[in-house]
Parts: sequence; C-alpha cells; structure tokens
Amino acid sequence: MTGIIFDVRRFSLHDGPGIRTTVFLKGCPLRCVWCHNPESISPNIQLLYKTELCLACDSCVKMDCPAEARKAVGEVVSDEAVMARVLRDRFTFDESGGGVTFSGGEPLMQFDFLKSLLVYCKEERLHVAVDTTGYAPWHHLQEVAALTDLFLYDLKLIDEREHLQFTGVSNVGILENLKKLCDTGKSIELRMPIIPGITDTRANIEGTIRFLLQLRNPPPIWLLPHHQVAMAKYERFGLKCKLPPTADPTEERMAELLACFKASGLKAMI
Ligand code: SF4
Repeated sequence: MTGIIFDVRRFSLHDGPGIRTTVFLKGCPLRCVWCHNPESISPNIQLLYKTELCLACDSCVKMDCPAEARKAVGEVVSDEAVMARVLRDRFTFDESGGGVTFSGGEPLMQFDFLKSLLVYCKEERLHVAVDTTGYAPWHHLQEVAALTDLFLYDLKLIDEREHLQFTGVSNVGILENLKKLCDTGKSIELRMPIIPGITDTRANIEGTIRFLLQLRNPPPIWLLPHHQVAMAKYERFGLKCKLPPTADPTEERMAELLACFKASGLKAMI
C-alpha cells in the first residue's frame, strides 16, 4: 500500500518517550491560523516556491530550478519503504526506550495507509505514538488505538465557535473522541499550542481545565509556546498566513499558565 508523506525526521526527542523517528503524513482537515507546518495541509504533492530565491529566470519551465527555489513537498511511498527507513534506527529505539511517531498534518486522514504502517510496527514490536488532532470518525480512532501505545492529542480551543473561527472545524467530535479515548484507558498526552490572544485567554484556559477535570482519567497536558520564527515558512513557500505577526509568549506567561493547570490538580508541563 502507498501513501503520501512529507518528511521523516530521525532522532526526534519531542514526539514521545526516548529517541524516535517521526513520520509526517501529508494532509490535514484543519486550517489552524497558527499552523507551523503549512506545507502539511494539502493532501497532495505540492510545488512550493522559496520566493526570495527565485531569479524569475524561467529556467524551471524547461529544467530543474538552478537556485533551488522550487521544492516539491510530499512523496508517494510504500508502507514497506517507510518501515525500511524507520527500522534503520531500531537499535537507538531499543537503547533509549523510543520508537516511531506518526504525525502530520493529521495522520488519520490517510487511515488505511496509517493502519498498514501500524500493523508493521506491531509485528516489529516497536513503541508507536500517533500525533492526532482527534478530528476523525470514532471507529477510525478506535481501530488505530488497538495498534497504538501512546496518543499525542491536540487540544486547542474549548469554545466551539472560536474553534471554528481559528481552525476551520468544529471541536464537538474532537472533544467527544477524547472522552471516549480516555475511557479506554489508553496512554494519552495532550498538547495545547499557546498562541497569545487566541488560546491563552482566561476563558479558554479555565474552560479547558473544567473540561479536563470531568474526564475519568485526565491525561497530562503539554503547553507548547508559539514560535513566530516558524511562520517564516509561509513567505518562503509563497503561502498565505492568516495569523498577524504575534509575539511569542514570555517565560513568565508560560509559567503562569502552567501554574493554572497545576493548581487545578492536572499534570502539566511546558
Ligand atoms: S491541526 Fe496541525 S497540521 Fe493541521 S492545520 Fe492545525 S496546526 Fe496545521
């Protein structure tokens, strides 16, 4: 079986326990205005342009771009080829307690391809994490859960209207799926992007805490500070960015938010 990926990152330290290889599947049903991986959103292979490198010489009409201003994002790969790349680091996984993480985009958008990769990983006894928005049919998540050791689950905005405004989709299914997933007892780590003025508002933080406290087993939550520097990708690739330039949250602000989660009894980290 084949799918489309846009990156394979080895020796990753932030996508689950130990040292990991993260495979990025292309395509995402969300349109978060702060997305740090805008090249992940389209499910298709794209030709993107680094506008500052383009010489407007038209050479690329006939041959490859001499300035390497044009870049194809995404490649069609077989599940076997992905696994061959992953298994190169099996020794590192075993030594560090790591494994493989499937991320995106939204990896569940390529459900059959993801499932096939997960079956391979199970056969190889690899530790598997799936990094998801939770925006998927429940029965897909359930099938994936049976083959996954850890979910890295995004939680962005608790108010449905705001979620719709800033990500382009409703959060009703996402929150329902999270409740159901918690009930299964699966290992979950939540991830909340801290975007000043959007996700760090008092209403959103308090609402998120209230929601988490209702869960049977509230998972730990990682607060991920926004990095404006990551938004430079939009200009480089000639993509339109909807987030106005935003200052990164200060260390003090991150500490305040962390304290709010901890004060409510939740396990939280930055
Ligand atoms: S869910 Fe992630 S990949 Fe998808 S648009 Fe939002 S930030 Fe980007």
